[in-house]
Amino acid sequence: MLQLFLKPTRDAPIRRGHPWIFSGAIERCEGDDQIVDVADIFDNRKNWLGRGLHNPKSQLRVRLLTWKKETIDRSFFATRLSQALAFRSEQLGASNNAYRLINGEGDFIPGLIVDRYADFSVCQFYTAGMDSFKDEIVAALSEAAPMTGIFERSEGRVREEEGLEASVGVLAGAAPPEALAIEENGQKFLVDIRRGQKTGFFLDQRDSRQLLSTLTRGRSVLNCFAYTGGFSVYAYAGGAREVVTFDSSMPALELAERNLELNGYSDAPGEVIQGDAFAYLKETDSKFDVIVLDPPSLAHRRSDLDAATGGYKFLNLHALKHLNPGGILLSFSCSQHLPRDLFQKVVFGAAVDAGRKVTIIKQLGHPIDHPVSLHHPEGEYLKGMALRVIE
Ligand code: SAH
Repeated sequence: MLQLFLKPTRDAPIRRGHPWIFSGAIERCEGDDQIVDVADIFDNRKNWLGRGLHNPKSQLRVRLLTWKKETIDRSFFATRLSQALAFRSEQLGASNNAYRLINGEGDFIPGLIVDRYADFSVCQFYTAGMDSFKDEIVAALSEAAPMTGIFERSEGRVREEEGLEASVGVLAGAAPPEALAIEENGQKFLVDIRRGQKTGFFLDQRDSRQLLSTLTRGRSVLNCFAYTGGFSVYAYAGGAREVVTFDSSMPALELAERNLELNGYSDAPGEVIQGDAFAYLKETDSKFDVIVLDPPSLAHRRSDLDAATGGYKFLNLHALKHLNPGGILLSFSCSQHLPRDLFQKVVFGAAVDAGRKVTIIKQLGHPIDHPVSLHHPEGEYLKGMALRVIE
């Protein structure tokens, strides 16, 4: 096993439970440091600190899995998986059969995402280290949560940074149907786990969708960046008078139409519109009582932050202008690089420029199946606010 020795003082974050070691923190190594492997981490005085997965191709050289001397094998992953599963099934109950089973660092398995959709699960292996344990993880998952099929959606920027190609397809069992039916808080949705965005559905908005249903009785609602219509279904369920479902993706909107139909709202007043939400918000003459703004991440890198804050301000400014007095705005950012306090300042700037007086009625964020490690605050990507326009 590879042994890595950290530079003096660079052991402190690791001792406090942070799971990341960048290349600059490593002083020397014993063993082959050119391969993807399990690595033991030591401080400068050769004190053992923890065990993780090493990737020579990534600047983020090691992601720690444990601070105990335990073997990293199928049974290690089986224990973590069954702990995560037990908590989800206990907390989310019978009215939810879709949830995030493993949330990377938040479940102390950095580099792995597992989403469960009814009888299927979808895995994303983000790091070379986790990728090398794919067989063990699939076996452990099949045992902890027997399913009809396990599908892989390992793709995207993080994998490229790890020197990995995209890998998409069946990992075990049957291939998923084109549209898989799930239930969330009693609402029904179809999910395309093969081709949909991320793993197919934005499970991280479950709690905020539920909140929305308590705010829509008799109101007109604009669901902007609607994807497959999650917030729209809850808006109708809460008694909305009219719902506009807006997104740029045609496949997403086709599924949104089917989701409205599945829940009995295909004839309910409203519209499903395809277009650019930035242009729509600027140009439309319509006014709404409730607006949901859930844009994709506008800052993929820290260096995008300036441009991204401009984008968030634009969206919130125009949304606030289109709200009737007493109106509600649910505004989100899923950019990991935009901290909550900065997001709040951006929305404040938008309110000032829109000439509106606004109160925060609730801070919004991750549901319980998207835990954030206290030792790894970088894992908090989703932040939102429920706002009320006073005048
Ligand atoms: N609120 C959704 C998730 C939104 S994800 C839910 O609860 O499921 C972000 C969405 O923004 C995606 O569906 C994407 O297609 C859409 N999108 C990206 N750029 C857009 C743009 N310029 N205008 C409108 N929609 C856009």
